[in-house]
Amino acid sequence: MSALAPVDPLRLTTANHAPIHPAGDYVLYWMHSARRPGYNFALQQAAAMACQLQVGLVVFEPLVCDEPYASLRFHHFVLQGMRDNQQAFATMPILYYPWLETKAGEWNDLLSRLAHKACLVITDRFPTTPVDSRVKTVANSLPVQLQTVDSNGLLPLQLVERDYPTAYAFRRFLQKVLPAFLNQHPLADPLQGLTLPQPKLPAELLRRYPIADPHALLRPGALDALPIDHRIKPVGVEGGAKAAGERLLDFLCDDLAGYDLQRNQPDSDRTSRLAPYLHFGHLSVHEIFSRLAEAEGWHAGRLALETSGRRSGWWGMSSTAEAFLDELVTWRELAYAFCARTPDYSSYESLPTWAQHSLNHHADDLRPVLYSPAQFEEAATHDPLWNAAQRQLREDGRIHGYLRMLWGKKILEWSLTPQLALNTMLDLNDRYALDGRNPNSYSGIGWCLGRFDRAWGPEREIFGKIRYMSSENTARKVSVKKYLQRYSGQKSLF
Ligand SMILES: Cc1cc2nc3c(=O)[nH]c(=O)nc-3n(C[C@H](O)[C@H](O)[C@H](O)COP(=O)(O)OP(=O)(O)OC[C@H]3O[C@@H](n4cnc5c(N)ncnc54)[C@H](O)[C@@H]3O)c2cc1C
Repeated sequence: MSALAPVDPLRLTTANHAPIHPAGDYVLYWMHSARRPGYNFALQQAAAMACQLQVGLVVFEPLVCDEPYASLRFHHFVLQGMRDNQQAFATMPILYYPWLETKAGEWNDLLSRLAHKACLVITDRFPTTPVDSRVKTVANSLPVQLQTVDSNGLLPLQLVERDYPTAYAFRRFLQKVLPAFLNQHPLADPLQGLTLPQPKLPAELLRRYPIADPHALLRPGALDALPIDHRIKPVGVEGGAKAAGERLLDFLCDDLAGYDLQRNQPDSDRTSRLAPYLHFGHLSVHEIFSRLAEAEGWHAGRLALETSGRRSGWWGMSSTAEAFLDELVTWRELAYAFCARTPDYSSYESLPTWAQHSLNHHADDLRPVLYSPAQFEEAATHDPLWNAAQRQLREDGRIHGYLRMLWGKKILEWSLTPQLALNTMLDLNDRYALDGRNPNSYSGIGWCLGRFDRAWGPEREIFGKIRYMSSENTARKVSVKKYLQRYSGQKSLF
């Protein structure tokens, strides 16, 4: 049995006071957010602990039905990931246990039974309240130690010790502290070369909670009996670590060159479309960074010494790679750190004080156009571009990045109150977007209401000092002709 270095303590939290049980049968990795076999600090930590304790490793990947917004769309995407994981783990010295919950709450019983036979449990850290509360509840009930491992970003979340009001302020901080972590990558294949004992699970447990067969569950009708939302159908995007890796390579080869100048153009769409894979953990930000650095022939010696918070020039990469990293690292890790530090991250009260004052001050302004949440959901507004964005959300589970901002701003303009606008955005985004229910969801939606932004003039009706956007200006600035045709709501005749 070879040894494996445990992960940096900054990424590790002991979530309860229960001890490690060396006489247990195995180490249990409860995989719920970093759903991948490689570039995964939690899996690496679980493997390291299994080596240290000289026991086997069980990787338990549940797909539960009592999660907020559970639907066919998200179940399909996760099952496609489980299918890839099953294949990847088949040749590895562990027991992979993919499992589908059929009755809400069963997962708790199963996890507790698995934990009772374990030396300790290791799980993913993910900074959203539903996931965090679930982990906390489990931590308090387990007879063995629960460790949470943070694989979320290039920077460990624990290092962010204060709030950053803007991306500029956060970028400055990152430029100071990130260099020390740029070589700290999870292993691409943490199980390679390990010889661990093969763990066995009790036959009675497996009879009661059978190992899922993702292939069978992806067949039409296989999920019909599940208590999840069946109106939200799967989309054409394939989930899983394999599809994520392929999309990453295609992006680096074909789209990255145009990212800097064309990413805001909905018609040409040069964005990475990696957000759903990052959300479900099918892809790691560390892998993206490694492959990008390789493609750019980059090394840490290229980093600028100056840490002024400038958006470009710090990394020492091409301008297009730097534009991409500003989204992937600055904006994404700002969102994750914000949610980790602000448990009520999606509430109106969590918006900056200046933004709340300004919105409240304009709360009674006349709203010439008003829509109900149901009208928004049905894409039934007077505005063809907004309706097209909403149709893209419903049909494809995403909105092009630039139009997503317009989508949010118009919901603010056409809702009775800013609080109602916030609720509508949260509900539609979490319900339909593959990458919804993510820290970026709450920072992006909050941004439409002033978060991480500054006050803008002239002060306007309804918006107050919140940055304004209009469909007319957007259609003038970026190309949307093909986009409007594609999401017109009319069936194509060709
Ligand atoms: C109203 C609104 C809602 C949003 N909801 C979500 C959401 O539910 N999930 C989500 O991941 N992002 C959300 N965003 C942020 C952003 O729009 C998406 O991350 C991006 O459009 C995803 O597409 P992509 O993967 O092609 O991004 P790319 O442009 O290729 O960027 C690469 C990666 O960087 C990160 N990123 C890009 N833009 C941002 C940003 N503004 N803030 C934080 N991270 C960013 C994402 O992880 C993304 O996958 C939202 C933005 C707004 C304005």
